[in-house]
Amino acid sequence: MTDILSMGELLAEIMAERVGQTVTEPGVFLGPYPSGAPAIFADQAAKTGATVAFVGCAGQDGFGDLIVERLRSNGVDVSGITRTDTLPTGTAFVTYQEDGGREFIFNIANSAAALIDADSVDPALAGDCRYFHVMGSSLGSAGSIAAVKRAIDLVEAAGGKVSFDPNIRPEVLTSPVIADAIQHVLEHCDILLPSDADLQYFCGDASEADAVATLFDRHRLEMIVVKNAAEGCVYHDRSRSLHVPSFQVTEVDPTGAGDCFGGTLISCLAQGIDIERALTLANAAGAMAVTARGPMEGNTTLSELDSFIDTANRRD
Ligand code: ATP
Ligand code: MG
Repeated sequence: MTDILSMGELLAEIMAERVGQTVTEPGVFLGPYPSGAPAIFADQAAKTGATVAFVGCAGQDGFGDLIVERLRSNGVDVSGITRTDTLPTGTAFVTYQEDGGREFIFNIANSAAALIDADSVDPALAGDCRYFHVMGSSLGSAGSIAAVKRAIDLVEAAGGKVSFDPNIRPEVLTSPVIADAIQHVLEHCDILLPSDADLQYFCGDASEADAVATLFDRHRLEMIVVKNAAEGCVYHDRSRSLHVPSFQVTEVDPTGAGDCFGGTLISCLAQGIDIERALTLANAAGAMAVTARGPMEGNTTLSELDSFIDTANRRD
């Protein structure tokens, strides 16, 4: 049995060297770094001790080697990743704004990442996993939406759970078809890992407490964990809420923190780690992720997280 199945875009990421740099004039860019939200998640889940399988597609090129080798070397089962010579590996270019915002230019739709479809999902694999994790960023094409829906059907039928990080970015949310797919996953998920912005997307200007109550009311959800960047996270189930403060770190690159947080949390749940320790470890993983440049360069093992927790200062 596999603990976690992750699926979606495998990317190479190229990042601006300095804050304030733009893509409208020449500048120094760093990379390529292995990336893609579901890949960052899978890598972190495997590093923290879960058995993880990945379904995706990469080009028959160096960027594909970069990401597939990283996942393989950290223990992810990459047998569900196909390689193609018809399209290149997906890419993301990222620049950082003075106000802390980021701007992405993705090529997912015209890359190998867009070549997955319902047939990419091996029923034996999906029917044998305990958690299937969906990233909102992976719902960008008809094929990837069909793949996610098929995996959800198979995992549900086998009694597994679905976790969902909506990760709604304006760059990716480009059509009503994608909005419908987000809604479909929301209706079928057990564990929701939204940011504040994701909650706002679902529930408008409602307070967090009201938004969470509405979501529990409307859907079968058993757990909602709201990620609040430097403030940590707030866990909600149907009977209680718990704020878990984060750790003091110097942020170098925020990309990947949420994916890394989710990878740690679901990995811990799959390994039977109690929820309070799981949330602390997930916060620590998110904090450590932002201290390293590169979307998955700050990924960590459980023992690295434990050493960090022993020495780091908690925020409050
Ligand atoms: P993204 O989608 O950009 O990866 P996100 O919005 O999904 O991010 P964040 O809330 O930014 O997720 O980060 C996830 C978790 O990582 C937070 O809940 C927190 O535990 C940790 N974290 C993120 N940024 C910081 C920071 N600056 N300092 C300490 N911890 C942080
Ligand atoms: Mg996110």
